Amino acid sequence: MAGSKTDAPPRARVVVIATGGTIASSSEPGGAAVARRTAAQLLGSAGYGDVEVEGRDLLNLGSYLLGHHELRLIADAVAEEVARDEVTGVVVSHGTDTMEETAFLLDLVHDSDKPVVLTGAQRAADQPDSDGPRNLREAVAVAASPEARGCGALISFAGRIFAARGTRKHHTVAAEPFRTLDGGPIGRVGPAGVRITARPVRPAPLERPGPRFDDTRVDVVALHPGADAALARAAVQAGARAVVLAGTGVGNANHALLEWVSEAVAAGTVVGLSTRVAEGPVVPTYGNGGGVDLVRAGALSMGGLPLYQARLLLALLLSEGVPVDRATLAPHV
Ligand code: ASP
Repeated sequence: MAGSKTDAPPRARVVVIATGGTIASSSEPGGAAVARRTAAQLLGSAGYGDVEVEGRDLLNLGSYLLGHHELRLIADAVAEEVARDEVTGVVVSHGTDTMEETAFLLDLVHDSDKPVVLTGAQRAADQPDSDGPRNLREAVAVAASPEARGCGALISFAGRIFAARGTRKHHTVAAEPFRTLDGGPIGRVGPAGVRITARPVRPAPLERPGPRFDDTRVDVVALHPGADAALARAAVQAGARAVVLAGTGVGNANHALLEWVSEAVAAGTVVGLSTRVAEGPVVPTYGNGGGVDLVRAGALSMGGLPLYQARLLLALLLSEGVPVDRATLAPHV
């Protein structure tokens, strides 16, 4: 049940952790947009009603530049802010390109009822119709809201609130770029306030990533007509502890990849089986190099988890020394 009004301190306090992205970008001479705006500059352009808002500069990068190290810094910063008694909730301003990965990581390790809300923009800060100020204002309202408590990490964008798990950037330029696979937003935010209409089911929190996460390599290899195992082999040679196969359809490959899966699993590489299809779960159905054979050879179905969230989950588990098998994956996929 949603928390009652009395759960919240009299005046909500929200910390906005700025990490860059389009929301912080403006065009440089030559035309390319680059993230430069600080938290104070972002906050200056919106109004937050009753909520006290504090800015914290952490990174100033397009999210296409983030590595595991930066994701770990974000997870640590969020945990620090959440641990402060006077803080009601946290907002992370972030590029949209890889927001689905950061949001999912934050959700996996979030050990508090306080809301953590990611937001960004599709139109740069110097565009006359930039969506950044409104998205930020709404994200602050969500982070301050007693209704959003207990929902883990959320993405608030264009008036919609999404659970982190299962949400993916599905459009490159649309003002509403996010979509939850096989689902929808869990709430809305706008002039009428924050309304949560569904509460995500979340597994027990995992340990926050430690320094080993930074260089835990997990690669994605996509299947297509004529695909062979060269890229999968190269990934392992480059140090990948796991490879996620973006299979065709319900999670299929071919004989070349099937042979590689048997060898790789025998040699201790984790092979996750996902799909290159935008929506729907992996459902092992076919033989002859299809999903049934791949799973028999030791590949682990990543179920309905979006491809890049599947990659991130494996990286986190492996970096923590958790043995990755069907049982450890079950609560997450
Ligand atoms: N398109 C991106 C954004 O929304 C660029 C990035 O991910 O930083 O911010």
